[in-house]
Amino acid sequence: MPNDQISQLDKIRHSTAHLLAHAVKELYPDTVLTIGPPTKDGFFYDFLPKTNFRDEDLPKITQRMKEIAERDLALTHKQIPKAEARKIYKDNPFKLELIDLIPGDTVGLAQQGDFDDLCKGGHVKSTGQLKNFKLLHISGSYWRADRDGQPLQRITGTAFATPKELRMYEKRVEEAQKYDHRKLGKQLDLFSFVQEGVGFPFFHAKGQRVVQLLKDDLRATLNKQNYNEIATPIMLSDDLWKQSGHYAHYKDNMFLSEIDEKSYAIRPMNCPGAILTYKERPRSYRELPLKLSEFGLVHRYELSGVLHGLFRVRSFTQDDGHIFCMPNQVEDEVLDTIKAIEKTLKKFGFNNITVALSTKPDNAMGSDAAWESAILSLKNALDRSDLKYVIQEGEGAFYGPKIEFGIEDSMGRSWQCSTVQLDFCNPKNFDLSYIAPSGQKEQPVMIHRAIYGSMERFFGILLEHFKGNLPFWLAPIQVKLLTITDDQKDYAQKIMHQLQEHNIRVAMDESSDPISGKIKTAQLEKVPWMLVMGQKEMDNNTITLRYRNGKQEFGLSLQDVLAKTKKYNDEYII
Ligand SMILES: [Zn+2]
Ligand SMILES: [Zn+2]
Repeated sequence: MPNDQISQLDKIRHSTAHLLAHAVKELYPDTVLTIGPPTKDGFFYDFLPKTNFRDEDLPKITQRMKEIAERDLALTHKQIPKAEARKIYKDNPFKLELIDLIPGDTVGLAQQGDFDDLCKGGHVKSTGQLKNFKLLHISGSYWRADRDGQPLQRITGTAFATPKELRMYEKRVEEAQKYDHRKLGKQLDLFSFVQEGVGFPFFHAKGQRVVQLLKDDLRATLNKQNYNEIATPIMLSDDLWKQSGHYAHYKDNMFLSEIDEKSYAIRPMNCPGAILTYKERPRSYRELPLKLSEFGLVHRYELSGVLHGLFRVRSFTQDDGHIFCMPNQVEDEVLDTIKAIEKTLKKFGFNNITVALSTKPDNAMGSDAAWESAILSLKNALDRSDLKYVIQEGEGAFYGPKIEFGIEDSMGRSWQCSTVQLDFCNPKNFDLSYIAPSGQKEQPVMIHRAIYGSMERFFGILLEHFKGNLPFWLAPIQVKLLTITDDQKDYAQKIMHQLQEHNIRVAMDESSDPISGKIKTAQLEKVPWMLVMGQKEMDNNTITLRYRNGKQEFGLSLQDVLAKTKKYNDEYII
């Protein structure tokens, strides 16, 4: 890439990767260098060290980077013949491999002082310009991301143009760490992971309550759109996975097993269950669109190193939906799905929804005409919705175009969750058909869609987005009753039963703590509402409502409180 097309930020970050490699080479001369590109959030450099780096080494490396920056060495870059480069890097098998891979007779060489690195360019002018950086962590990686390849050690860092941007970044990271969903999951007794099942989450009663509420809310939306919920097996014969193409493309990520000397696989996706349900009997055009939804538990093998709380697990539940329809029904079905997605995401305050439509890739299956009409249907549906979208040319899957939805959380981070995917491939692979009005057999179009995506991941996103303060309608315990002394226990019991009669999730603090202690406990549990009852409330038959932000309302009747719970539930008030 010519130098002027690389952003200034990428130049700073890539140059800081050189600075890191330079410092490492000075401190640990036996280390073998590989590559150090800029990334979306910073940069990394992959090393093969003589002895592994530890986190304690980062301050020392940072200090040396600062010293080299102080030297204000000019960064130069030139093209040299490959033969010369092979001589320079004769002891570095990684660089030799790269030299062979680079097309042409020359390669780029970057230099600063007595340090050099093979690279295609894109630098700042001198090391003196590299002042606002931070090394973040050390992790394992593989040469050329090949898990059978040479294991390496990656040092990841970030860099910015100004100290202010670095400080803002540090603040964001600090906040993200403070509200890490793994930490909140423990603090709020929602879920856990155990050594006996690495990557398989355990949902505790309170966490499972939240998952159920998310499911129930979605079910209500889907019922209005004439969905039929199904449940299909998590294990199926591997003949099926061969037919669906998963075996060819996905075998390494599937858990395999054997029953009666026959090979089975635990499903990595739910689609075949819906397909077999469709195929269970002949279908008429009168039944279309047929919409099958399933909260389907899938298992996928992931390397233990990439597992990350609920964000990356080995088993998760997709809120899957499969729509079988005629080609002329696609547009309306996609529009309905977009509406369900928008409605659902906005309930959580995700108002900034980004949408991307991915079109025909080079390796596409299916005719040009089928692709054109499918993309037109998706575009028309998007044009009829309120959402703005971008087109990602050639980014669709080989089996059909798709729409991806992104959300931005309260910390300004973006996440991809919902998807709508058209599929020309599976109806053919599984020989799906319906009897058309003409009496002829026709092939239906299949739409795959998910709104939350992975329930587990979405739960994790929500926890961080709300900083643990789940909205009233989603909180596992909505209301906690706190009495000032034991004298009000009977009064509180009566109120508790009334609230339970109205399906409010409520708990009572039975401890002998003073009221300040009870409030503190409820705050740590992030319970949305506390109902405080003392002698005065009991005498007047009233309740004091204390919100988790400390705001209070006095002298409420039980009817007032019930009316408020209804409003908060129905309007998804946060
Ligand atoms: Zn470079
Ligand atoms: Zn599917």
